Amino acid sequence: MALTFTVPSDPQHSTAEQIAAVHADPGFGRFFTDHMTTIQWSVDQGWHDAQLVPYGPITLDPAAAVLHYGQEIFEGMKAYRHADGSVWTFRPEANAARYNRSARRLGLPELPEQDFLTAIEKLVQVDERWVPSVGEQSLYLRPFMFASESFLGVRPAHHVTHMVIASPVGPYFPGGVQPVDIWLETAYSRAAPGGTGAAKCGGNYAASLTAQAEAYERGCSQVLFLDAVEHRWLEELGGMNIFLVTADGQLLTPELSGTILEGVTRDSVLTVARDLGLETVERRISHDELAEGVRSGHVTEVFACGTAAVITPIRAIKSSGDQIVLPDAPDGVSLRIRQQLVDIQYGRAADPHGWLHRLA
Ligand SMILES: *Cc1c(COP(=O)(O)O)cnc(C)c1O
Repeated sequence: MALTFTVPSDPQHSTAEQIAAVHADPGFGRFFTDHMTTIQWSVDQGWHDAQLVPYGPITLDPAAAVLHYGQEIFEGMKAYRHADGSVWTFRPEANAARYNRSARRLGLPELPEQDFLTAIEKLVQVDERWVPSVGEQSLYLRPFMFASESFLGVRPAHHVTHMVIASPVGPYFPGGVQPVDIWLETAYSRAAPGGTGAAKCGGNYAASLTAQAEAYERGCSQVLFLDAVEHRWLEELGGMNIFLVTADGQLLTPELSGTILEGVTRDSVLTVARDLGLETVERRISHDELAEGVRSGHVTEVFACGTAAVITPIRAIKSSGDQIVLPDAPDGVSLRIRQQLVDIQYGRAADPHGWLHRLA
């Protein structure tokens, strides 16, 4: 049976002026709306106590398992305001399904898809004024689930909490899309076969942060991870999937190997690319193939993709003692696919695959 959400009787409301001030310069993940959703789960009661409450700090016992063993998963989605004022999200069923795959891998309970969606709908409806209406701004939605049981024993927690928070975010590239430099990481691995690479969990991010910090020091904004066994095959960036475009009209991306995250954007890029007449190929790609392809001109574009930035073109791939530089592609495939996806999300293009889901 679907959960029923309680709504606060005296909702706290920021003033229109306060919201406008945030919308003027939201950045990413710095400001949050007036409310949040919480749902509890226990072995005895299953999912229960679904509430919409004022946004604010939560009380957690210092022995809460998540603080010790990192049993946690999350999702990242966006709510987009269309020109007619309506608010929509993009392929939420795909996020709900992935959330449950992540939950299974992390020993967390599955949340029924309907409850996952209702938790988002309720939050966006009560905080609708927070959905920006300018340019490529949106309301970023962050569902997450963690082990809230107070217990230091090592086993899947018997008490778990699901929450959703929402944050107005500005365009990822305020000055127009800017190609970035990335660091090809040969020492650190993000995920190993049999590990949690295909789950969207905080632990994978924790494992990537040192590499990310070192990449920053080398003037790169992201890390490109290779497979953990041979250090030879392209996997993905810390939080984005990677694509190559070839001179003969192919779009290549590493196959889903169990160690990379199955991005909703990745899947949407593959679909939009086929709609645009490109041939798409999912297979293993070695870093030698990438380097030689760029040098010979066979690989014409490389880009990363994910919900936050949609598509980020890559200018250069740096590694110790080497650097591969991509040619400028202002009219390239990357930006054409990006435009098509963004136009669908903001309701400016037809939605032939039924990807949009109305929230308000
Ligand atoms: C979230 C994420 C992505 C991108 O997934 P989208 O569904 O496209 O946002 C890619 N890689 C990792 C490691 C991620 O956590």
